Amino acid sequence: MYQPSNFISTGTKINAWDDLKPHFDILINREISSQDDLVTLITHYSELFSIFEEDYAWSYINMSCYTENNDYVKKYEKFASVIEPEFSKAANILTKKIVAHPQFSQLDSARFGQLSKLFKRELDMFCDKNVPLNAELSKMSSQYDQVAGGLTANIDGKDLPMPMAGTRLLSSDREVRKNAWLAMQESRYAKKEEFDTLYSDMVKLRHEVAVNTGYDNFRDYQHDNLHRFDYTPDDVLGFHNAVETCVKPLALSIHTKHCEKLGLDVSDYRPWDGSGEPEGQTPLKPFDGGEELTAKAIDIFSILKFEFGENLKAMDKNNLFDLDSRKGKSPGGYNYPLEVTGMPFIFMNAAGTQRDVTTMMHEGGHAMHTFLCNEEPLMQYRETPSEMAETASMSMELMTSPYWDKFYNKEDHIRARREHLEGIITFFPWCATVDAMQHWVYLNPEHTAEQRDSHFVELTKRFGSCVNWDGYEHYERNGWQRQGHIFGDPFYYIEYGIAQLGALQVYRNFVKNNETGLDGYIKGLKMGNSKPIPEVWDNMGIKFDFSADTIKDLMEFVQEELDKLNVDVCVAG
Ligand SMILES: [Zn+2]
Repeated sequence: MYQPSNFISTGTKINAWDDLKPHFDILINREISSQDDLVTLITHYSELFSIFEEDYAWSYINMSCYTENNDYVKKYEKFASVIEPEFSKAANILTKKIVAHPQFSQLDSARFGQLSKLFKRELDMFCDKNVPLNAELSKMSSQYDQVAGGLTANIDGKDLPMPMAGTRLLSSDREVRKNAWLAMQESRYAKKEEFDTLYSDMVKLRHEVAVNTGYDNFRDYQHDNLHRFDYTPDDVLGFHNAVETCVKPLALSIHTKHCEKLGLDVSDYRPWDGSGEPEGQTPLKPFDGGEELTAKAIDIFSILKFEFGENLKAMDKNNLFDLDSRKGKSPGGYNYPLEVTGMPFIFMNAAGTQRDVTTMMHEGGHAMHTFLCNEEPLMQYRETPSEMAETASMSMELMTSPYWDKFYNKEDHIRARREHLEGIITFFPWCATVDAMQHWVYLNPEHTAEQRDSHFVELTKRFGSCVNWDGYEHYERNGWQRQGHIFGDPFYYIEYGIAQLGALQVYRNFVKNNETGLDGYIKGLKMGNSKPIPEVWDNMGIKFDFSADTIKDLMEFVQEELDKLNVDVCVAG
């Protein structure tokens, strides 16, 4: 947790830039005459950063929980478009001062080496001209959140929020699935033009941001901007190829088996069938409402590790969950670290499905990461890169899965675990599709909306699809618009694929030996961002590698785990 040293009061509230400016002025003008002075300056900057992040977080949380509340929306917009730009300019001046100080290169490299890399990258990426452009992009991204969060699907005369409508896609009644799917598509499609224009404008602006910083394109800019120190865009293209060769066949065979279960011919596998249950089987119903979800998550986390359960209890006591789906919430789920509180906030759109269980375990994994980094005084080291953050969350999904019996009887528990493992396999092609699409979008910034849709369809075919879209090709072409990351978090997606490879290795260690597996996990999470990812993974007993060999090896492991569950099914019944 943020370690106060009385430089700035922990109760400081930020309503305007003037609430922070005097503190920045002190640091920017402070005389530094020794290494100790410099380390104190870095610590005080980290505190100021934490205070800013805490309030910024709350403005985002409030807005995403109540997208129709104008005060919240305005407050967030003020943060994003007025306060944040001033903050980033002042932070840049301060970072320059720190990096330029002769003592900076003399600091202990074991402790400050990674910080030096981060600071230098930030200075390289900073460009005055981009400050207003980035503010505009934040605004556009919250515009997407607001419109997407307000979408409803009209089913049987009722307007349902999308996550609620989505539960009908799990039905064993094909007509129910089809009607829900059509209602959802219709609702999304009504916004297509608006989203197309918004996205085209974002692409244009982002290209400008990249060019302003001296890059040829936004892809290469964003790669560096996301602090991807340990791999190149070409490595990512290699990852796409590996998914195509090593995962696609497995994913297709899962779809084919699903078709058989539904009693359908493969040529008749329609877009509303993907999550459908076979006739006579009801969808898994793990819980009823967010309260039950929280209580059971606490039970499960406690079994895994006593402290994990206590952490969730503390969050519950401090009202740091908003889990249930309702109209007017942003879509999706997240864990938002609160840098001063020392605990995160978990946001979800739960509608009582197995997917929500996975999401809760996932966000819970992020939350444990927040807690485990609490002792780190530097904000820059508590804030981990996404590849590592998602390794924490996805490992947690897997490590908690043996205890999901808190939600289910034996048979349903096996079913839930099987769906989860199959979902891991089928996710890789989608992950590659979303990422490859963005490579194309930003390497060809002059494209038209038409070409973009066509390219998306080509990619879904490249990475494997056996869905029959006859008559609904316009919805197929629009499929990318449901992925919010493409709008608000450009290129933040391949991390899920990379992290899943880490998570599968963590889980393989955990299956071999629960205690040492979990110890490795905790050790890595505690390191935060203080070391490069390959070194952190090494400490966890896993390899940072997304070559075809590793992927093949891990897919075999998933297959073995699936086979074990099948044996359990025979024993169970
Ligand atoms: Zn996550």
